[in-house]
Amino acid sequence: MATLSLKRKLEILSDAAKYDASCASSGGTKRDSRGGKGVGSVEGGMGICHAYAPDGRCISLLKILLTNFCVYDCAYCVNRVSSNVTRARFSVEEVCDLTLGFYKRNYIEGLFLSSGIIRSPDYTMEELVRVAKTLREVHDFRGYIHLKVIPEAAPALVNEAALYADRVSINIELPRDDSLNRLAPEKDVAGIKKAMGAVRLGVEAGAEKGRKARAPKFAPAGQSTQLIVGADAAPDGEILKRSESLYGAYSLRRVYYSAFSPIPDSTARLPLQRPPLVREHRLYQADWLMRSYGFERAEIVAEGEDLELEIDPKLAWALKNRAAFPLDLNTADREQMLRVPGLGVRSVDRMLEVRRIKALTLEDVRRLTRGLEKLKPFIVTADWTPGGLTDRADLRERLAPPPQQMRLF
Ligand code: SF4
Repeated sequence: MATLSLKRKLEILSDAAKYDASCASSGGTKRDSRGGKGVGSVEGGMGICHAYAPDGRCISLLKILLTNFCVYDCAYCVNRVSSNVTRARFSVEEVCDLTLGFYKRNYIEGLFLSSGIIRSPDYTMEELVRVAKTLREVHDFRGYIHLKVIPEAAPALVNEAALYADRVSINIELPRDDSLNRLAPEKDVAGIKKAMGAVRLGVEAGAEKGRKARAPKFAPAGQSTQLIVGADAAPDGEILKRSESLYGAYSLRRVYYSAFSPIPDSTARLPLQRPPLVREHRLYQADWLMRSYGFERAEIVAEGEDLELEIDPKLAWALKNRAAFPLDLNTADREQMLRVPGLGVRSVDRMLEVRRIKALTLEDVRRLTRGLEKLKPFIVTADWTPGGLTDRADLRERLAPPPQQMRLF
């Protein structure tokens, strides 16, 4: 095989990593290198200038695979063993040098590292751990590290990964277990769940120890996972039900949704077209409603149904539950206010502060939110009541964005 330059490897292995959505740097512990100690920092505002994902995600992390060689044959993956892509592999030292070099040039805040399975799950996990260990112990790197865990690897290796990484993630990949069995025959759903359960226990034990003594932190930013949307027939309600149970069972920080991308030479068992990107966006919005707005999944969408694509899930819920509106913003509690379409957590908290001093007017609401039109049918203020607007038959049409011409090609 021809020797590839480092630049060419970077092109191949950053492009190969773009399909993994499960990275975000929220929730890490604060480390810095003030006083001349160490290299790097996880403090905000540092080094955000280089994106490797075309959709804009993870722009502050160097997001790469250690290698896109893989001995598995997951039908939905461009790196599967039967795929005809150009292969490349970094050495541990190359990944460390790139991370440190980009960090020092202020291109990145940290590293997101995943890998195809080379030789065996244990060998691959050892290599990933070696990268994180070298960065931390040899270079005293204090930036953010997110490692992908190979669920079939030995538990001791997974534990070691979590001691060096801020976050670890194990991809559950497909919303339905039988789809995973069918499309990724070497993967084992039970093994994935077992590994996620072990990480959960480690994170909880690490947090407990950390309170009592200066113990090494175990994945302080917790764990996350990714669900591929549109590779199987699971509707949004089923996908969100899966997320709901994953949040409950494994204390996940985040479930990421990644719209399935058709890949070259793929099997007839996969769809030919990717789902509309707005579907991924609606799933993220619904996920936020479950995590931060007090909604139950069943309130947002029934298990066998899809989310509406034209309007966001909170507006869809409000239109179906008009009896709950209009809501008097001067007397409602926080939980009720969070259910008003167009009101976010920050806006609600600021309104509650203002309310201590004076009665909220429409002008206050305009100042504290991004737009009044969507809100007006659902709220009452000191100087505004919507009258019959809330119950108008054409309210949905008035609030939905105008239809767009579909693309023909
Ligand atoms: S194990 Fe990962 S890299 Fe390998 S084929 Fe499956 S999804 Fe792709």
